[in-house]
Amino acid sequence: MSKAVALNLPPLLAFGAHPDDIEFGAGGIIARETRAGRRIHFVVCSRGEAGTNGTPAIRTREARAAARILGTTVEFLALDGDARLELKSAHALKLAAIIRRLRPGIVLAPTTEPNQHPDHWRLGTLVRDATRLARYGGLRALKRHAPHAVGQLLFYALSPGSQPPAAPILIDISAPGIVATWTKAMEAHASQMKTRNYVELQLARARVLGLDAGVAHAQALWPNDPLVFDSLAALGRGARRF
Ligand SMILES: [Zn+2]
Repeated sequence: MSKAVALNLPPLLAFGAHPDDIEFGAGGIIARETRAGRRIHFVVCSRGEAGTNGTPAIRTREARAAARILGTTVEFLALDGDARLELKSAHALKLAAIIRRLRPGIVLAPTTEPNQHPDHWRLGTLVRDATRLARYGGLRALKRHAPHAVGQLLFYALSPGSQPPAAPILIDISAPGIVATWTKAMEAHASQMKTRNYVELQLARARVLGLDAGVAHAQALWPNDPLVFDSLAALGRGARRF
């Protein structure tokens, strides 16, 4: 991919409640996009301190290693802590300040479906609020950076149970090397492999979605708002083979 093309891709900002969320929920898409030259930044909103396995120091190291593998940058944001995240306007303002600072075209966050770790849906809700607040010109708490309108807010689902009922958009991650890079990034979270094989689960989900779409592997995202295309010709194809 040439530099000229890469420069035209607006940056992507991904939020995760825990140190491995983004990698497990959208890591294949991330690997695909960084390879295309898109700049991607992760904001991780806890150190995974409530997890059964791994200390905060280990989880932080694992997240940094995974980000390196995927070609992204990462920062950690302290909110209420792992398993204690609450819906507070102060949090939404903090997230909005990050959105204004980084000015992404695309924002990723966990889905807001309630049947999952409460930090996931609460963070998804806070990010949705934050994308609104980032646009509003009159907020004194955000005046350090100019208002910013995000192009698209897209949600990723960490498990089948956290998938919204609406049809997702599917991103083909079958290009050579993408699934391998994604797998390495998930495996960087070695402390999380002790209780359940999360890597296998995510690869199986991507394989099923890929089969449905007629490609080897795909990952799903759910847009918060209707997507706008310039014409029908710009639409991707549908996953259903009639
Ligand atoms: Zn999580």
